[in-house]
Amino acid sequence: MSENAPVRQDVTKCKSCKEPIIFVKTAANDKFIPLNAKPERRMVINAEQKAESVTTWTPHHATCEKVEDFR
Ligand SMILES: [Zn+2]
Repeated sequence: MSENAPVRQDVTKCKSCKEPIIFVKTAANDKFIPLNAKPERRMVINAEQKAESVTTWTPHHATCEKVEDFR
């Protein structure tokens, strides 16, 4: 389960800071949230207490200088 499904979302730009982002629906409530377009490699610790490599995307809220615009 370390492999992610291919990302099909179009890259767009944040209206506030112009960084490349993608809009993806959350599994929790099916609402679109902005993620930074560039994926990052991170590690998770699995059920067997072993480190596993995963690809992650950072919510754009975490890095946007003008985060107020999304609220
Ligand atoms: Zn932004």
